[in-house]
Parts: sequence; structure tokens; C-alpha cells
Amino acid sequence: MAAKGDQMSMELCRRCGVLRNVCVTTSRRTVVQPDGTTIEVETRAYHCETCNTFIRSEDVKEADDTVGDQSAQT
Ligand SMILES: [Zn+2]
Repeated sequence: MAAKGDQMSMELCRRCGVLRNVCVTTSRRTVVQPDGTTIEVETRAYHCETCNTFIRSEDVKEADDTVGDQSAQT
């Protein structure tokens, strides 16, 4: 296959019973860790393009390069 741009992926839709193109929606949320730091987590939800049934979701943790100054008190 010579797909131009592979952003469209296919997943097995349980309702259709076959592989379908999926729509991906992403949402971001901030999660507070047990040690008090926060990280951004991007949740990607996959829905069947044909019947719009939810297929799966995955969480992607964003690398947080910001350096907090909470402990840099002088
Ligand atoms: Zn479907």
C-alpha cells in the first residue's frame, strides 16, 4: 500500500465486525502525581468512522520539560 499520509489508521470495530477507518479525538488533562508534580496526559479516543462506536482509547503522557521553581527558594 502506498498510502499518502498514514494518519488514518484502521481498527477492528466490534459493531461492524470488520476493520474500519477510525476517527481520533484527543483531549488533554492535567494529572497530579503522588509527589505533587503535575503532568499533562493526552487521551486519544478512537471511534469507528462508519458507525461511530467507541473502539478504544489510549493515554499518552506528555514530556514535561518545565522546571518548577518551588524548591529553588533562596
Ligand atoms: Zn463500526
